[in-house]
Amino acid sequence: MADSCVFCKIIKGEIPCHKIYEDENTISFLDINPIAEGHALVIPKTHATLVEDLNNDNISSIFETTQNISKKLRETLGKPSTTIAIHNGKEAGQEIPHVHVHIIPRDAVDGGGAIHNIMSEPYQTDNEKLQKLADRISI
Ligand code: 5GP
Ligand code: ZN
Repeated sequence: MADSCVFCKIIKGEIPCHKIYEDENTISFLDINPIAEGHALVIPKTHATLVEDLNNDNISSIFETTQNISKKLRETLGKPSTTIAIHNGKEAGQEIPHVHVHIIPRDAVDGGGAIHNIMSEPYQTDNEKLQKLADRISI
């Protein structure tokens, strides 16, 4: 736990939230500033800033909770889709430095876009450059 972290305070019950799920490793609640009806967050109960900092138990629990919350939101709100997103670090738009998954119910007329809209221009590349990059980052 991090003393100054808003989400750690929510976990400890020091800040109220509209909780929709809790288990041993995760908690889910409604975003205080939603961009769509049902915009929810899923967080691990241990403090970590980046996805890479989480252990395997937390990783699998977060994705399982995300799956269940997404299903419940779609069924309850009658939405065909959800956008599931993580700002993984400050430069990617992360304001609260505690890993959180955004789950945003979506439909065809909500006026939102796809993840490609986070960049104003597509990144220019070609097949050769893509292969060189793939070689460098292969694990
Ligand atoms: P980020 O930009 O870090 O990915 O998203 C942080 C999200 O947390 C934002 O959508 C913001 O509205 C939400 N948020 C920030 N503070 C609180 C809070 O105290 N309670 C709840 N429920 N959501 C919060
Ligand atoms: Zn925290």
